[in-house]
Amino acid sequence: MSKFWSPIVSRLTPYTPGEQPKINNLIKLNTNENPYGPSPLAIAAIQREAADTLRLYPNPDSEPLKLAIAAQNAEYGVTPAHIFVGNGSDEVLAHAFQALLQHDEPILYPDITYSFYPTYSRLYQVAYKTIPLSDDFMIEVDDYLEAGKNGGIIFPNPNAPTGCLLPLSEVERLVAAQPDSVVIVDEAYIDFGGDSAIPLVSRYPNLLVVQTLSKSRSLAGLRVGFAVGHPDLIAALERVKNSFNSYPLDRLAIAGATAAMQDQAHFDRTRLAVMNTRTGLVTGLNALGFEVLPSAANFVFARHPHHDAAILSAGLRADGVIVRHFTNERIAQFLRITVGSDSDCHALLTALPKHLL
Ligand code: PMP
Repeated sequence: MSKFWSPIVSRLTPYTPGEQPKINNLIKLNTNENPYGPSPLAIAAIQREAADTLRLYPNPDSEPLKLAIAAQNAEYGVTPAHIFVGNGSDEVLAHAFQALLQHDEPILYPDITYSFYPTYSRLYQVAYKTIPLSDDFMIEVDDYLEAGKNGGIIFPNPNAPTGCLLPLSEVERLVAAQPDSVVIVDEAYIDFGGDSAIPLVSRYPNLLVVQTLSKSRSLAGLRVGFAVGHPDLIAALERVKNSFNSYPLDRLAIAGATAAMQDQAHFDRTRLAVMNTRTGLVTGLNALGFEVLPSAANFVFARHPHHDAAILSAGLRADGVIVRHFTNERIAQFLRITVGSDSDCHALLTALPKHLL
């Protein structure tokens, strides 16, 4: 810290990302990456783009990508005017905090949730109030309805790091009951077993749905995310974006993401593979005595009644398997384990027993 730092930056606790280890032979089950890799059509599109056009600035509106997302959601009345794209959904969320959540009343989000929300709240000086999850780690819509006036609501669905899903009917109940609040549903993990709220967008002008290509499209390294909402919400995001960086997506990202959105077969094949592996992983963890929260994500959240999660995490690491452990008191007994390939999950289940003696 130095005297040149602004007061906001001095008070900021930055988000701590999951570890990206330098050693390659580790089994990495800590940051919810997809083991199957992106669509080959996306890689080919990136190669073509790299060969031909990097001399030129990209399309400032990422138009080909917006058209591909709109085409996929055309039956719900989604057009390019309903879509915002950014450099990962983290950037989309950052713009949403600035563009849509800076009001007098505090915004609401769960107490156990994606830890970028408190970081963005502090960075953009957005007051917030956390709403505790229920005893079984679920989001309870009634608790939000009873919390009084608010400056907006944001939550991941499925929630992170629990993986638990709020049914679409409950999402709709919340959005419908709060017409004066923007409700942002962060669907980073929705493709692994949940129903997206995108079909609701045409009926609720207060709903913004945020998705990413990092997980179900296996493009975490390309950094592409998007939001779908009423054109008035999208216009606010575009205004912030254009005041910040009018070219957030580069040519490679636009080309790769567009091709990835169009490859439905690869998308369905790989997300089903992740869901199948998840079933086996949960069975294996249960057999070892773990309690696993119901997951609709590409990770599971598991605790053992007799073993300390921090010690288990360190023991696994010594065996070359990295999982995520959070120090937040309410969830300190849990491990968050990414659903990797079958062989990754087998390695985890083989490494665990000796730490449970
Ligand atoms: N939302 C949630 C709930 C997440 O867990 C993540 C991944 N860390 C993101 C958003 C951001 O993903 P990305 O920036 O890679 O799109």
